[in-house]
Amino acid sequence: MLKTPLPLGSTIGILGDGQLGRMLSQAASRLGFKVVTFGPDVGSPAAQVSLASKVAAYTDEAVLARLAESCDVITFEFENVPAASLDFLTGKGAVVAPSSKALRITQDRILEKDFARNAGVWTVDYFPIDSVEDLGNAISEHGPGFESALLKTRREGYDGKGQIWIRKGDDIEKAYASLGHRPAILESKASFTREISVVAARGWNGEIKTFPIGENHHVGGILSTTLAPAQVSEAVTAEAHEIARKVLEGLDYVGVLAVELFVLPGDELVLNEIAPRVHNSGHWTQDGCLCDQFEQHIRAVAGWPLGDTSARCTVEMTNLLGADILDWPTLAAEPQSRLYVYGKDEPRAGRKMGHINRIK
Ligand code: AMP
Repeated sequence: MLKTPLPLGSTIGILGDGQLGRMLSQAASRLGFKVVTFGPDVGSPAAQVSLASKVAAYTDEAVLARLAESCDVITFEFENVPAASLDFLTGKGAVVAPSSKALRITQDRILEKDFARNAGVWTVDYFPIDSVEDLGNAISEHGPGFESALLKTRREGYDGKGQIWIRKGDDIEKAYASLGHRPAILESKASFTREISVVAARGWNGEIKTFPIGENHHVGGILSTTLAPAQVSEAVTAEAHEIARKVLEGLDYVGVLAVELFVLPGDELVLNEIAPRVHNSGHWTQDGCLCDQFEQHIRAVAGWPLGDTSARCTVEMTNLLGADILDWPTLAAEPQSRLYVYGKDEPRAGRKMGHINRIK
């Protein structure tokens, strides 16, 4: 735990080396911190903009021990970092935020939903699935009116990967096999009218700041656009902010997280998932807010005062996937917009290569 703010020039370690690590590193360096990134890839997006980078597996204890020694605080940008690596760092005397407890819960869709319900946050109905028999039983529990439900792996799913819709009459053995017989969760279908997310931060001293709500559109399970601040009622905004507070306090969380929510008819909110890190749906804050989500995360883990989260304008963030990035000359010439490029070599289909924030 940090009792006093990190002094100017301190060193922050980041586990994970993708675009989120890159933008965290840039925000940290703006505040005068030095950044060491840690991840498996040489020349990664984060390594390109950091003082130093350690290229190793997340389980490499020798390299983790050196990281613990050289950093004043260590954080992460990737939720599939092993929670045991965070425990190892803490055991070596490192200050780590968010905690391994928060990571463990949010890495597992069942623990996450159990946590949310205990914290007083509503979720869809869900059933743990460890066999085809469990799947059959869970579908029976839906009753004769069953139309469809979503089968997801418990762990390591992202961008719509590791999920399959099960419809009435489907071959459930085949469906479960398509997820590699891994531990899974069957979720009842949320008949939502909109998808929104709330990005929020909590400091070591319990201070909380919440960004305005973003409205998200997915294509093929991958976030395509976020429009923020979203056109939602004051009641929805207040409820979403309250959900973020319950999650942050329930996890005793330090740093930025995102809560993805389904808006049901009648404006009832249901939690979909918690991302224990800065989030793609918060990229709009880079141009929409005085303090963006990346700076806010650095401030939170460094024990600095949290920044101003109020919106300055409306922004539409669009992800640039795969070959979209090849349009950069046109995108870079657009007025009222700002282009972000992640420095990845290969524009493979569906790969997040950059994003553009358009002021509306
Ligand atoms: P996830 O990886 O859990 O965020 O799921 C990706 C996307 O699938 C979400 O943004 C929703 O569009 C959709 N989705 C996930 N869970 C459900 C659900 N229980 N009911 C309906 N749609 C869902």
